[in-house]
Amino acid sequence: MTNSDRRITQWVEQTTFVDTHEHLIEESQRLSGVLDPQLLPCDDWTYLFADYVANDLVVAGMPVEELRSFLGPDLSSDAKYRLVAPYWDRIRHTGYAQALRSTFRGLYGENDLTAESLPRIAERYRETVQPGFYSTILRRANIESCHVNSMQRIYMETEQPALLKQDLSILCFCRCSAADVARVEAETNKKPTTLEEWLDIIDFYFVTYGPRAVAVKCAIAYSRALDFTPVAKERAGRAFLQHVGRVDGHPAGPDDIKALQNFLLRYCIGKAGECGLPVKLHTGYLDGRAVMQLDRVRDNAADVCRLVQDFPDTRFVLMHIGYPYEHEFIALAKHYPNIAIDMCWAWIVSPMASVRFLKQFLLAVPATRIFTFGGDYVAIEPIYGHACMARRGIAQVLSELVAEGWIACEEAPNLIERIMRSNANSFFANR
Ligand SMILES: [Zn+2]
Repeated sequence: MTNSDRRITQWVEQTTFVDTHEHLIEESQRLSGVLDPQLLPCDDWTYLFADYVANDLVVAGMPVEELRSFLGPDLSSDAKYRLVAPYWDRIRHTGYAQALRSTFRGLYGENDLTAESLPRIAERYRETVQPGFYSTILRRANIESCHVNSMQRIYMETEQPALLKQDLSILCFCRCSAADVARVEAETNKKPTTLEEWLDIIDFYFVTYGPRAVAVKCAIAYSRALDFTPVAKERAGRAFLQHVGRVDGHPAGPDDIKALQNFLLRYCIGKAGECGLPVKLHTGYLDGRAVMQLDRVRDNAADVCRLVQDFPDTRFVLMHIGYPYEHEFIALAKHYPNIAIDMCWAWIVSPMASVRFLKQFLLAVPATRIFTFGGDYVAIEPIYGHACMARRGIAQVLSELVAEGWIACEEAPNLIERIMRSNANSFFANR
């Protein structure tokens, strides 16, 4: 390590992150220990494997039924360890597993999960979950606040608004599946039968929560391409009647549903623009396993151009660097004044792609157009390890750029402050 490497590492360690993407459940639910099949399937150390590491385990050969038992509430700690041990060894170098190992190290003082360390890790998990542990862990990770895209509510009225700033999720409004409509009905007690009534409900959410939201978030790229061409309201209204109102006649086909979604997403983007809210879009790699249609993911960057052009006054945040097509996202951010790129999740999906991406980005795009950290977790603990990996990657990028003579060492502190903290604070300024 050279002298400038050491200085850069120190600056990166000292700089506070603004964390622009998490899915944290409320701290009170973690403390209550009330299980939820999706968001809190068990309340022991294996809960920390539920986000992401679980996918690597299955891809490495762990049978899905074993994974279910591993993440469930019924087995003893020892039995769970026996299930995971053979696969843990196969995945220990992936970004997902490295973030977890780093969490064990930083929060529990344990270098690795082994038969020997297991009882202490199980105990430390229990000791850690106590009132105030969200802010304690975020402070230890040197994170000043998080943006949360709640999985529990379309907009979560959080107990800790200064620490956990909330996105307004527009996915249900735009995707408009039977489950989405049911969820909106459950939250509002309204049963829309026409497009007009659906739009009234959307308006209600924007009026009620828009002033408090930090951004709107949409993960519709999980279910379709991002090619949202304009659709006339009459066409969308007919599709809504067929799809949701279930009028007699032929049911909505794929083209009708796509047209309806096109209209609804564009409507929501218009609303976000009126409220001054940035629009965060999932792009790139999909969480899960054995579901990804890579051809659709591949077209995300090209597809999104139309939206970005049609709403020049709306600011778009393209999430996860569009991995594995991150080069295209550098081109987008360089070209469009209303695009910023969020590196959330990317450091653990592919640490090395993230290093290369950031290095290329900083020499191609204005430095204000990037946010460099979001853990993307439902549990709070692994954010710690993920933040360590992000810091390591950022320090490596800056060190290489200095060593290769692209930037001066004296320029590094200002750049670090921007990309880790002040870009997010200014971009989401009035929030
Ligand atoms: Zn996410």
